Amino acid sequence: MDTSALDQLTQNGQDLDADVLARLAERADDVNELLGALSQLDPTDLERLADGARPAKPRRTPQPPPVDGDVYDVFENLTPEQEHTREATRSFMEETVHPVANEAWENGTFPKELIPKAGAFFDDVIGAGTFTFPYDDPVRSGIISFEMSRVDPSFCTFYGVQTGLCMGSIAMYGSEEQKERFLRPLERFDMVGSWALTEPDHGSDASRGLETTARRDGDDWILNGAKKWAGNATFADVNVVWARDVSDGQVKGFLVEMDMDGYEVEQLGGKIAKRGVENVLIDLDDVRVPEKNRLPGVESFKDVGTQLAPCRAGVAWEAAGLATGAYEKALEYCNERIQFGKPVSSFQMVQDQLVSMLGTVTALQTFVMQLGRLEEREGSISAERASLAKVWACDAMRDVVQTARGVMGGNGILLEHDVARLFADAEGVFAYEGSREMNALIVGRAITGQSAFV
Ligand SMILES: Cc1cc2nc3c(=O)[nH]c(=O)nc-3n(C[C@H](O)[C@H](O)[C@H](O)COP(=O)(O)OP(=O)(O)OC[C@H]3O[C@@H](n4cnc5c(N)ncnc54)[C@H](O)[C@@H]3O)c2cc1C
Repeated sequence: MDTSALDQLTQNGQDLDADVLARLAERADDVNELLGALSQLDPTDLERLADGARPAKPRRTPQPPPVDGDVYDVFENLTPEQEHTREATRSFMEETVHPVANEAWENGTFPKELIPKAGAFFDDVIGAGTFTFPYDDPVRSGIISFEMSRVDPSFCTFYGVQTGLCMGSIAMYGSEEQKERFLRPLERFDMVGSWALTEPDHGSDASRGLETTARRDGDDWILNGAKKWAGNATFADVNVVWARDVSDGQVKGFLVEMDMDGYEVEQLGGKIAKRGVENVLIDLDDVRVPEKNRLPGVESFKDVGTQLAPCRAGVAWEAAGLATGAYEKALEYCNERIQFGKPVSSFQMVQDQLVSMLGTVTALQTFVMQLGRLEEREGSISAERASLAKVWACDAMRDVVQTARGVMGGNGILLEHDVARLFADAEGVFAYEGSREMNALIVGRAITGQSAFV
């Protein structure tokens, strides 16, 4: 090595680190030439070169803030009962239902072991013996749908069919004797309920087209026809079956018990949504139902519509909860998923999609909260307000789940990350409780004064 450069450095009073020189000698072909070239540089260039040569400090990925799907504090200022309901539903869903949700969905069966647990949950949040329909606290019942659907929309449907549809029919239109015999065990989930309006050939036009017939025969009624969908009916003890009385042409409601002769139930297979709920085809072949099982409060199809309005409002809460769950799961995933050495949530285009979802989710939450408060204040909800909620909330939910699934890449279609299940289940929410078009027609008629149904 040319010692003149070293001498110069030594004369300048620099402390030379022998280890550094040795490392340099190992890596440079000609250290002498390198030191010579360096010694020719003016101080500014030398400094710049030294800056560039320093290894870059590894960039620390900041710890992401906790995932929060309620950024406008929509769920603040709840009553103590509503707050308890929210906390209890959230922990029930996360601790008890979530662990079995994906397997149930994949198998296409409802996890029956949850039935007694659902009874204990109901007793905690509502209290056996106190069920009313329409709900005395629509915000509280909305929160239940929201929190259930946030984690498992199939379980939400199981619960909604049991409570809003089956128990709701008996609470609204049943006799005192029917309330004792059916409503009380249903409240405890000692009995499971179903509700059958739709038929294989009549969905949207059930009000006009309903073909299932009821013929009076002494103290009994004879039911004939077919039903489709009716959630829970594979294992339900009692099913509220809607049939047209052949003598007056009016639709009436009957409490059909699962062991009645001529009542055959077959599970629908091949579903791509709400796979954790069991939907069915039902054959009613001369089913003899005693008069004491007819709902005495039902006079016509109009009563079905009256019951469906609060149920539709409940579906809007369900859509809001489902969208919130999808947003939260997608954000969690994007914070953890590393690509190009960084969490994908650090990329601008991903953040844009997360923000777009959050805006829609926030709008959904404020929308349904106002819907619930309106329902509470007025003691009921009009058909058009319920239908508007169903239409808009389902459209908004669909936007969110589509973005959530997409932002997760290929893993977005795997059940293990949950969003795939929410994405698919959104199609069930979109389809039931009246299609988009039928609900839009209800609102359209109200705002224009003109019916455009046919
Ligand atoms: C997961 C799931 C669970 C369900 N659970 C139950 C249950 O527990 N009990 C029960 O009784 N039912 C249940 N249903 C049935 C549900 O309520 C019906 O699917 C729904 O009412 C629509 O009827 P449809 O499927 O027969 O569609 P259709 O009536 O055949 O409609 C097909 C399409 O035509 C459109 N359309 C029809 N008429 C018009 C018109 N006049 N103008 C414009 N467009 C029109 C509809 O909007 C829709 O897009 C369930 C459905 C699903 C998917």
